[in-house]
Amino acid sequence: MNKILIAEDEQAIAHLVQTALDGEDYRCTWAPDGLTAADLLEKEPFDLVLLDIMLPGADGYEVLEYCRALEVPVIFLTAKGTVEDRVKGLRLGAEDYITKPFELMELMARVETVLRRCGKTGRVLSLPPDIEIDTAAHTVRRDGVPVALTAKEYDLLLLFVQNKNIALYRDRIYEKVWGDEYLGDSRTVDLHIQRMRKKLGLEKRLVAVYKVGYRLEVGTFS
Ligand code: CA
Repeated sequence: MNKILIAEDEQAIAHLVQTALDGEDYRCTWAPDGLTAADLLEKEPFDLVLLDIMLPGADGYEVLEYCRALEVPVIFLTAKGTVEDRVKGLRLGAEDYITKPFELMELMARVETVLRRCGKTGRVLSLPPDIEIDTAAHTVRRDGVPVALTAKEYDLLLLFVQNKNIALYRDRIYEKVWGDEYLGDSRTVDLHIQRMRKKLGLEKRLVAVYKVGYRLEVGTFS
């Protein structure tokens, strides 16, 4: 079930949106101001934020910074509807932009689209032809057979599957998987990747990129 944060100071709108989304099997949390939204984002994981721009406390653009740092997709939900406002919102990294007043049907469709585009729907991710990752159970199967990965190996696999065909820098990989545990040794990344790809038979698909890091090659590249 996808968790959605509604950051909106107008209670009537928040309530309307929440009721509609709850009916579609989403789990919603309401933040009436920007600071509450930022606090909630730091405390628990959300799959999407519906973000008003004109919010008390911290405005929507400031809250967007939090969302981006945590890689939570954002749909702006706002009365600021000029082309400049839209462009600013999208440039800053919002996934979509809905102007008030809006139709609930349209809102639902956009929520669904953004969640799908950001890989938040469905708990099973696949890496054809043989690998499946159940993101809810944290299990990985290769040709239907469970593969025992360490927590770091699992995180690494997920990172590559979510960034197919993109060369990821070692620093970035380190930051995403080890976070604050940085030990200043990039060989750690190499060691974990080597073990992970061997367990999964990805030696030919998860390739080293000279002076950069690694890339998971899929589709026409493999
Ligand atoms: Ca507002």
